[in-house]
Amino acid sequence: MAAAHLPLQAVLFDAGNTLLFLDHARMATAVAAALGVPLTGPRLAAGARAASRTLERGGATDRERSAAYLEALFLEAGIPADRLGEVRACLARLHGERHLWSGIAEDAHDALTRLRDAGLRLGVVSNSDGRVEEALEVAGLRPYFEVVMDSTLAGVEKPDPAIFVSALEALGVEPAAALYVGDLYEVDVLGARAAGMDAVLLLPAGAPPRVGCVSVHSLGALADDLLKERLAS
Ligand SMILES: [Mg+2]
Repeated sequence: MAAAHLPLQAVLFDAGNTLLFLDHARMATAVAAALGVPLTGPRLAAGARAASRTLERGGATDRERSAAYLEALFLEAGIPADRLGEVRACLARLHGERHLWSGIAEDAHDALTRLRDAGLRLGVVSNSDGRVEEALEVAGLRPYFEVVMDSTLAGVEKPDPAIFVSALEALGVEPAAALYVGDLYEVDVLGARAAGMDAVLLLPAGAPPRVGCVSVHSLGALADDLLKERLAS
């Protein structure tokens, strides 16, 4: 784990694909019914890694990247391109009913509890549509975080360092005493570093490490590493 320049006081997290995950079964069931096609949660989830490449493309807003990611997910699952309009309409309806990104990892509660109980201040910095706080509430994670920054409400999105700096100012913590955890190298790691923070990349189980940054494969492993370092320092 990369050591902060000052003793670690705060850990900030990305939301999508770090704390909050798409509920593939819910989306698959709804789209299968709306389009009259066979589609299951596991089939949809199987294309997640291929679809996530669309999230790393530069030159687009987060909203455009998110829409492209969802379209890529359904194309990977075999939905024809000429039916994506129907998919978008179905997903918009589902998102209106309950945030699409409200699934969590099995170890999320345990890892966040351990980090908070060790005295670390926790926060979220997310490129979202103004509803990330609601999504964290629905997922049961909101109570862990002292600050939640949503790009739509902040008027600036990652990788712009300003959104990370705003979150740190709200906590009253120096960048050199904070760590950022996210799943996208260009958006999360490079953005946090530009704000003066260390960053850790959270990768799906089995994904190869990325050259140039520290990575972990679960929130539990992150908590293990950070708490070991605190005991040793
Ligand atoms: Mg993310």
